[in-house]
Amino acid sequence: MSVDVQPSHIDQIKQANIGLVYRLIDQYGPISRIALSKKAQLAPASITKITRELIDAHLVKEAEFHEPGFRGRPAIGLKVDSEGWQFLCIRINKASIVVGLRDLSSNLLVEEELPFSVLQNQSFLDCIVDEIDNFFFRHQSALERLTAISIIINAIVDPINGIIHSSPYYDIQDIPIGAFLHQRTGLPIFLQHGITAWTIAESLCGTGKNYQNLIQLVIDDNVGAGIITAGQMLHAGNHSVVEIGHTQIEPDGELCYCGNRGCLETVISIKNILQKARSLATQHPYSLVNTMTIDNVPLTIDLLCQAAIEGDPLVTDIIHDAGEQIGRIMAIMVNIFNPGRILIGSPLNNVKHILYPAIQQQISQRSLPGYSQQVDIVATQFDNTDTFPAAALIKQSLYSGELLIALMQG
Ligand SMILES: [Zn+2]
Repeated sequence: MSVDVQPSHIDQIKQANIGLVYRLIDQYGPISRIALSKKAQLAPASITKITRELIDAHLVKEAEFHEPGFRGRPAIGLKVDSEGWQFLCIRINKASIVVGLRDLSSNLLVEEELPFSVLQNQSFLDCIVDEIDNFFFRHQSALERLTAISIIINAIVDPINGIIHSSPYYDIQDIPIGAFLHQRTGLPIFLQHGITAWTIAESLCGTGKNYQNLIQLVIDDNVGAGIITAGQMLHAGNHSVVEIGHTQIEPDGELCYCGNRGCLETVISIKNILQKARSLATQHPYSLVNTMTIDNVPLTIDLLCQAAIEGDPLVTDIIHDAGEQIGRIMAIMVNIFNPGRILIGSPLNNVKHILYPAIQQQISQRSLPGYSQQVDIVATQFDNTDTFPAAALIKQSLYSGELLIALMQG
């Protein structure tokens, strides 16, 4: 090592090592220092030093445990000390906001979903701050040491600078929510697109855990994707998301709000699938869709899935077709990213016995056999209403060491 090594470089290594040790304690604790040293591939002296610092900062504590296969006296191991450390998770939805308080181990302490709208002559930021203040006021007794605020929203965001550029649901432009909340609270503020945060959550604690290459497809009102390649979130640091939903699959299809025609989203979003089912049902008098929606009962995705589960041929065909259309696009993605897993986050997971084989069949037929044979399709662990993805941003920052260092420095 040369003598003029920049201090920032050493700091980065120190930060990464602390993050790694903390992650291993979180995942395997209680774990002995020896086991930790082996897993982290760090010298025992480094482990002693790092764990001492974490213990002093009350982020880790010692705990007795029985090592598997050993009888007799319990060993001393380390586990995460999340008591008293809290953070706030906020999910901004269309017309509602979910505010939740979690401890540092991501356990939910209290959560509320509230109607949210921005009235004229009020600013978006003021409305958010009001909701946070009111939440704190109502739950004063549950509050301990607040360490960070994490916000997710399905909008165009700049996560690095904490800016919401625009939203499909709110008339806003370039809102510096990160800087504003940091100024008011002094806390680190995390901001991320909802799907990106969701994919991070799945890769840390969900069905994408331990996969270095992952594609998560979200099929809901919107169709989007999150991609992890070589362990890194694609586009995590810029304004982009993977715009798979705006890939044309029907040249003469419906006009999309993006300006093009026949985008995947205009065909397979939940809204469009329901629309298609309603319109085709008029030509299929025996379809369950007709009996289910008698007396003007609105057709919901739950009812549609129920019809498919009961074997309704029309609905089965509609879902199978959607699967094939998804599969054609996913085949290209498989060839580019060679994922170990494809995760599907969608209410259509209720009919995965129809959807997944249709996707799988198209991937097998259209992508490199060496790639397609090793990919499996599974449902996400979390859903599109969860605030856990916001918590995952905190976890990610703890694991990278960044937030840990901030907490240790008080
Ligand atoms: Zn489009």
